Amino acid sequence: MQVKAEFMLSAVSATQFPRPGPPEIAFLGRSNVGKSSLLNALVGTATARVSSTPGRTRAINFFLITGERSAKKMIFADLPGYGYAKVSKSIAETWPGFIEPYLAERSGLRLCVCLVDANVPAQESDGRLLDWLRSVRREFIVVATKIDRLSGNQRARNLGALKKALDLEEILPVSAKTGYGIKELQSRIESACSSHGDG
Ligand code: GDP
Repeated sequence: MQVKAEFMLSAVSATQFPRPGPPEIAFLGRSNVGKSSLLNALVGTATARVSSTPGRTRAINFFLITGERSAKKMIFADLPGYGYAKVSKSIAETWPGFIEPYLAERSGLRLCVCLVDANVPAQESDGRLLDWLRSVRREFIVVATKIDRLSGNQRARNLGALKKALDLEEILPVSAKTGYGIKELQSRIESACSSHGDG
């Protein structure tokens, strides 16, 4: 996937979202899970630079992604990291209020890419997010980040434990550092965008 990423806007309320158009992919994960690094690995450096700008960490940052060899476009939505608080009853307590309606209602949103750290046991906040996405019937894929830090045995053990704890049929291991799994994730994203016929 040779692509160009162009920053569109930072939204802190639903009125600021871009008009729905191209198929959209949302990226979610706890702070420090490796989301900026993964976005960089997928599309280049512009995304992380924008996301780390002060004030934009509580916003949804939208990027227009254009394929170099085709006119196909999609939108990547980089959501704020969640889960600073160890125990919190709902996702909304640690998240700005416009996030849940975005995930539940946004038209054009084809897939949520949910990041968990392959080196860290499943967290309550991750489980809560996935249960919530299930409850609103939003399609998602769970990606295990920083897989390069684990040896073969540890990999299998940690991935198995994450799948079990989060009740998943599959989890996609990736490394922004080595590029492991990036092509697979790109192809999942592309097929989510084209599966509805208008991507
Ligand atoms: P974000 O807060 O979710 O955007 O996370 P960052 O992308 O800023 O990454 C958080 C930390 O994890 C940084 O120190 C990164 O260098 C590190 N990191 C991110 N991705 C990887 C990876 O694939 N492998 C390794 N070993 N470290 C990573």
